[in-house]
Amino acid sequence: MVRETGYYDLLGVSPTASSDEIKKAYRKLALKYHPDKNPNEGEKFKLISQAYEVLSDAKKRDLYDHGGEQAIKEGGMSSGSSPMDIFDMFFGGGGRMQRERRGKNVVHQLGVTLEEMYNGSTRKLGLQKNVICEKCDGYGGKKGTLEKCSSCKGRGMQVKVQQIGPGMIQQFQTTCPDCQGQGEKFSAKDRCKNCNGLKVERKKKILDVHIDKGMKDGQKITFHGEGDQEPGLEPGDVIIVLDQKDHPVFQRQENNLIMKMNIRLVEALCGFRKTIQTLDNRMLIISTQPGEVIKHNDFKCIQNEGMPLYRQPFERGDLIIQFQVEFPEKGWLPEHLMYQLERLLPPRDDVMITDDMEEVDLCEVEVGSQQRHYSREAYEEDEEGPRGGVQCQTQ
Ligand SMILES: [Zn+2]
Ligand SMILES: [Zn+2]
Repeated sequence: MVRETGYYDLLGVSPTASSDEIKKAYRKLALKYHPDKNPNEGEKFKLISQAYEVLSDAKKRDLYDHGGEQAIKEGGMSSGSSPMDIFDMFFGGGGRMQRERRGKNVVHQLGVTLEEMYNGSTRKLGLQKNVICEKCDGYGGKKGTLEKCSSCKGRGMQVKVQQIGPGMIQQFQTTCPDCQGQGEKFSAKDRCKNCNGLKVERKKKILDVHIDKGMKDGQKITFHGEGDQEPGLEPGDVIIVLDQKDHPVFQRQENNLIMKMNIRLVEALCGFRKTIQTLDNRMLIISTQPGEVIKHNDFKCIQNEGMPLYRQPFERGDLIIQFQVEFPEKGWLPEHLMYQLERLLPPRDDVMITDDMEEVDLCEVEVGSQQRHYSREAYEEDEEGPRGGVQCQTQ
């Protein structure tokens, strides 16, 4: 049992989540709340990063599970990595050193269907990006006309005084708004008209994103040097992160595909023939022999009908089928025919009844609330081993 769930709640995962689930949750949230996309959610971005930093590290996660946030702080385990460092590490943005000489990397998420990952596909992605102004070559105005900024006297900073209460004054420094902290600026007549002195202009760029067969959810496709351009800096990369959409039939587990298939009781007992449409629109026929009993939740697999392997697309994982046996509804067979069925089925076990036993009623359980409750209880006991045995629920 974990002590607190705050970090799990922040990432929207359960305390039993696998490390893959934690990674995936962080990826989605970090991209959503990154200051580039959501400038007003800086605090949220920070909290998500903290939660991920702890939960992605087995040692820290264990400490947190046993002692909560307090234990992390006391154990000196909060490393103080900035949310940006964590983000860059995750999305492969290079270290701080690299960031100083290079422009920022831009990370985009691209929703991809399972069909696209199975068959391969090319997607066009339109991006707005800063490019060096063509008119002034990124200089910002007429060459040699840059003057010292008069507002800040070339310091790039201005000192402001603010009254924060009766008789109380606060002094603080801000970036000079007239020269954007550069200390120098062009006079209106010398400023480049195309970029308005900004040295860069927004342009639309179309990228061809090649989704290769067998690529995975969360896989990154990097376009080197396609990030925003800035004078004097090497442009950063555009990183596309694939986000696999849910499929109505198939679930993916690494290179395997998993599907559920409903079969009738008669099919489970007497054999069946069924078809499956693959992700490249072929039709597969599967069948069982009469007498080959399929039980509810039984698994069978078809070899080499799973996902193609990345960079070895002629190899494929398996397709795993989980059978769901549909039982007939109440009253499907008139009572007077029941004995015929019973004659054919394997015999029942006899039950010894003695006088000291008590006859009780078997009642319906409301589906939803109760059943879910029971199954969660069972799950938790699986996780931690039995604690005091099964308990009777009193109504
Ligand atoms: Zn200035
Ligand atoms: Zn310009």
